[in-house]
Amino acid sequence: MARIAYVNGRYTPLSEAQVHVEDRGFQFADGVYEYWSVLGGKLADAEGHLDRLERSLSELRIQEPMSRAALLGVLRETVRRNRVREGSIYLQVTRGAARRDHPFPPPGVRPTVVAIARPADFSSMEAKARHGVAVLTQPDIRWGRCDIKTVGLLPNILAKQAAREAGANEAWLVDADGFVTEGSSTNAWIVDAEGRLRTRDLGANILRGITRKTLMALAAELQMTVLETPFTVAEAMSAKEAFFTAASAFITPVVKIDSVIIGDGHPGPISLRLRSLYFQRARKDAL
Ligand code: PMP
Repeated sequence: MARIAYVNGRYTPLSEAQVHVEDRGFQFADGVYEYWSVLGGKLADAEGHLDRLERSLSELRIQEPMSRAALLGVLRETVRRNRVREGSIYLQVTRGAARRDHPFPPPGVRPTVVAIARPADFSSMEAKARHGVAVLTQPDIRWGRCDIKTVGLLPNILAKQAAREAGANEAWLVDADGFVTEGSSTNAWIVDAEGRLRTRDLGANILRGITRKTLMALAAELQMTVLETPFTVAEAMSAKEAFFTAASAFITPVVKIDSVIIGDGHPGPISLRLRSLYFQRARKDAL
């Protein structure tokens, strides 16, 4: 079946889908994105990602391309036309196409909107999570507004590539003081000796992960303590458990950081339990 993309009001075969060569997303990374997992044909954490999209657009003063309801309609229709039951949907909104010039374009230039849905094999992801994955630490060389989900991901890409070349699944970014900020495309967590969850606070220069937020609500219901306090690489290496969260990875246990094995080298019980509970919750609440 031919895949279908949504581009500026039209559903088009993916192979023919195009944006302008002077799109500001292409020329300046002047755009934002969101990514939802699709579970049972529905969007996981739908509202949370829409909230963050609106915030990203507002922080960059990019016009909202349509109402929230209309946007959700586009996302669902793209999922439907691609017959995705298990997979993802990616949405990108840029400041639009205009003659290349650094300042914002004149009023009237419409944002570019693209949505792409893709099926995924969650069972192979599940198998990977059952074994746990390795992460590689890398210096965090990103700009100062990582709370905005922009398409300017070059430092993240370089870190992820370094991880993959080292045989690791993800890169954990480390700030100038030696504290882990987050992953290249995930939020970083540890379980400390007292069984408390720890992850970086939102005052830091990190993305406000939606999976992170849902997990926090889940942890509160389970009466688990969550500390939003920075941890060093050494603390992570000696933690009981480690894992990362993202819409694309759910909750993925980490069993190795650089060359150091975490715990007994197998995913910890807390990480696995949270992963399974997150799935149940996300599936039930999907829109
Ligand atoms: N941090 C970064 C840098 C990311 O790119 C992502 C995924 N987009 C996350 C964290 C996780 O966020 P979410 O749970 O909203 O997918």
